[in-house]
Amino acid sequence: MRLSRAFLPTLKETPAEAQIASHRLMLRAGMVRQTSAGIYVWLPLGWRVLQKVEQIVREEQDATGAQEILMPTIQPADLWKQSGRHDAYGPEMLRLKDRHEREMLYGPTNEEMVTDIFRSYAKSYRDLPRNLYHIQWKFRDEIRPRFGVMRGREFLMKDAYSFDLDYAGARRSYQRMFVAYLRTFARMGLKAIPMQADTGPIGGDLSHEFLILAETGESQVYLHRDLLAFDVLSQTVDYDGDLSPIVDFWTSRYAATDEKHDAAAWAAIPAADQVSARGIEIGHIFYFGTKYSAPMGLQVSGPDGKMVTPEMGSYGIGVSRLVGAIIEANHDEQGIRWPEPVAPFRLAVLNLKPGDAGADALAERLYAAFDPDAVYDDREDRAGVKFADADLMGYPWQAIIGPRGAAAGRVELKRRATGERAELSLEDAIARIR
Ligand code: ATP
Ligand code: MG
Ligand code: MG
Ligand code: MG
Repeated sequence: MRLSRAFLPTLKETPAEAQIASHRLMLRAGMVRQTSAGIYVWLPLGWRVLQKVEQIVREEQDATGAQEILMPTIQPADLWKQSGRHDAYGPEMLRLKDRHEREMLYGPTNEEMVTDIFRSYAKSYRDLPRNLYHIQWKFRDEIRPRFGVMRGREFLMKDAYSFDLDYAGARRSYQRMFVAYLRTFARMGLKAIPMQADTGPIGGDLSHEFLILAETGESQVYLHRDLLAFDVLSQTVDYDGDLSPIVDFWTSRYAATDEKHDAAAWAAIPAADQVSARGIEIGHIFYFGTKYSAPMGLQVSGPDGKMVTPEMGSYGIGVSRLVGAIIEANHDEQGIRWPEPVAPFRLAVLNLKPGDAGADALAERLYAAFDPDAVYDDREDRAGVKFADADLMGYPWQAIIGPRGAAAGRVELKRRATGERAELSLEDAIARIR
């Protein structure tokens, strides 16, 4: 992406309405733009990040054997009347009528719809277990949308739904998602901690929220220090094997949000191991048994010919919230510091003197080596503007090329996360970034 031709608008001023760093930085870096309260346009830079986050979520869901579908945003109210949630859900649900006066709604979640889909096809125990997920926009008319995409009204969620023959199977499905969530967040450079959680309006009795620690988090959390030290990605996972050891490790150390906090259990932890902090909820997994399958009449024939009501769970990740959460965890005074896997572009080539034949040639070669995962700052702007923009946008690597260095065939490479700089030949710079 050549900046001279790109639509990557930035804001000079710090927007007054933004209370937290991620919101400020997303507006200043031109990632999003609000169109009404809690509803955002994703501009090119933000959209690229959102898609990278989404793709990591997708890969880790697929690895568990879950299958992706796409359910619509607009749902018939009738399904929600079957589950009893049409009245129960309250004013967070956006209710609509079509031209024939049929009651519709913009989905805040999809348990009813997926149960309806599954009951139309599943006939026997051989159709179980299954896990269906989608990555789709949700609408919740939040009473206080705030913190930018962190608490939007329209937001992107990955929601998965498992169907099993019995409790033991449902527990295995739950464990698969538990482990997949650990891996998903770790791949984005986040330390997400699973915590015992209330089941909320969705109901059930086995539930974990995944939170990252951040001063601006909306939840108060309590956890054992060990949980912050564990390296998730060093373990290989066999989703057909027994995942209990991984789940047991995480659940054997204390971790709870304030809703589930147990003062006595907490007091038993040595003070040096107690971490109490603020947290951002980025994912939530629930087992809820037959809460939807029973009222909605989902049944399959069991191995003995008797009808069985499948046990279900649902598993959400706040895909758009994650973009804000990643920034909360990775920024400094100058701007964003993207972890490489979710960076909008991995490299920014800063040509300090466009028009200088040597600088142009070197910059073009480096840019070509990483395009389309690089931006090329070929604008006629002062060096200071280019440095500031690159720091703000947070590209993991900056390659600074000026006429003098170019004449000597040298590139100055800067690592955004650490500020480290090195003068390298083009070949060495390419090798370092790869
Ligand atoms: P919260 O407690 O923040 O209101 P929730 O518990 O209501 O979230 P869930 O129903 O568990 O949300 O939905 C799954 C995930 O969707 C959440 O873990 C969160 O990451 C994300 N999410 C929920 N509400 C929003 C929102 N208003 N804006 C952005 N993401 C959201
Ligand atoms: Mg909520
Ligand atoms: Mg919650
Ligand atoms: Mg939740």
